Amino acid sequence: MRYVSTRGGMPPTPFCDILLGGLAPDGGLTIPEAYPRLGREDLARMRPMGYRHLAFDILTRLIDDIPAPDLRRLVDQTYTAAVFRNARPGENPEDITPVLTLEPGLYLAALSNGPTLAFKDIAMQLLGNVFEYVLEHRGERLNIVGATSGDTGSSAEYAMRGKPAIRVFMLSPHGKMSRFQSAQMFSLQDDNIHNIAVRGVFDDCQDIVKALSNDAGFKARLRIGAVNSINWARVAAQIVYYFKAYFAVTRSDDEEVSFAVPSGNFGNICAGHIARMMGLPIRRLILATNENDVLDEFFRTGRYAPRATADTRHTSSPSMDISKASNFERFVFDLVGRDPAKVRELWAEVDRGRAFDLAGTPLLGRLREFGFVSGSSSHADRLATIRRVRSQYGVTIDTHTADGLKVGLEHREAGVALVCLETALPAKFADAIREALGCEPERPAGFEHIEDLPQRFEVMDADVDAVKAYVAARCR
Ligand SMILES: *Cc1c(COP(=O)(O)O)cnc(C)c1O
Repeated sequence: MRYVSTRGGMPPTPFCDILLGGLAPDGGLTIPEAYPRLGREDLARMRPMGYRHLAFDILTRLIDDIPAPDLRRLVDQTYTAAVFRNARPGENPEDITPVLTLEPGLYLAALSNGPTLAFKDIAMQLLGNVFEYVLEHRGERLNIVGATSGDTGSSAEYAMRGKPAIRVFMLSPHGKMSRFQSAQMFSLQDDNIHNIAVRGVFDDCQDIVKALSNDAGFKARLRIGAVNSINWARVAAQIVYYFKAYFAVTRSDDEEVSFAVPSGNFGNICAGHIARMMGLPIRRLILATNENDVLDEFFRTGRYAPRATADTRHTSSPSMDISKASNFERFVFDLVGRDPAKVRELWAEVDRGRAFDLAGTPLLGRLREFGFVSGSSSHADRLATIRRVRSQYGVTIDTHTADGLKVGLEHREAGVALVCLETALPAKFADAIREALGCEPERPAGFEHIEDLPQRFEVMDADVDAVKAYVAARCR
């Protein structure tokens, strides 16, 4: 399996050579040259597999330059009940992504049982182990610099902590994360983890990271890498749980299932699209946004009008507060028949901050062929959904999952199972739960007092040179 760029400017490249990079050299995103296709026999064989076995079976079709026994070991060491230990009572932690039945035909796929209580752990935990493996083989080190408003940063830190070949420098807006989220990150005492609390907002953090990445000399000298959501390995790892959930809610491979996906950067649902392209019988991919509804507008009308980061609305589902979905180009590449010239033409507009519009072209109809429908959800919708799910099913869900469920139910069809992806546990977003239910969300064991643990972080001004100096001093 080799990888190409959505913009056509990269020779076919093996997995390990795109693993540590961000964008393709031509500014596009990396994508398999062709998707592996699974037949009926493959699905029948996969149906009884446990998570690890299934993950290996899928990933080995996408990663062929890590010897199979090594890949199997990396997968086995990642997806254990000890790592994904925050299952609800009654869920089997061995399932890694257990599926909860809300009512017949309506399910919640619990993707957030990993160390930071968000679905990002599923991919990031594997990424940490694969990074370590590849760096060790090449005798290299890597310094990861990233910006976070909450979930990505903690997920990356918990995946990379204690790995001697990797250092993490994570910038976050000082005082702007939830108390729980700051405590998760700042209480890590590992030497290779560096938290930088920037006096400013998330966009300031993001701008500093961009400035560092655009300084080619600095980047090469200090071996700066990224773990942001455009990383192909993250998308690849997320394909697995679509299969797992499909098998959990069906009896035969003749059945179709729809998935509702709370979306921001389009990484999660992109994995669902690829699972469908590989042959998993997915009927609808239901994309849910919050008030930041750029993607909903696209899937309803064909017009893609990314907004300036300054126009991003701050909502109670903050991990979906995205105005420009970084993985979206991967889907559009497939939509336009894998024609890189067409992608270049469309992104010539996007990269200038302008919109493109597919209304009135045959491409609009193809959106439905690819199974996509969409909708958006507001703060009031989230609260109402959290309350209803609590009273009707006795389950507490978080605000992002509530966005997904609300939109998912709008597109539910009789006789078709609907799986809503749970992208975080409610403990991470206590304020909204308190507002919806008037009580504190339950915390999984071990998280009871994390706000009281000693914290380690450096407060800095939003000053590129100061951050550069800080990073350089710790990379010697
Ligand atoms: C990251 C995140 C999302 C959005 O996922 P994308 O892959 O960026 O679409 C949704 N919910 C939660 C809780 C997240 O952390």
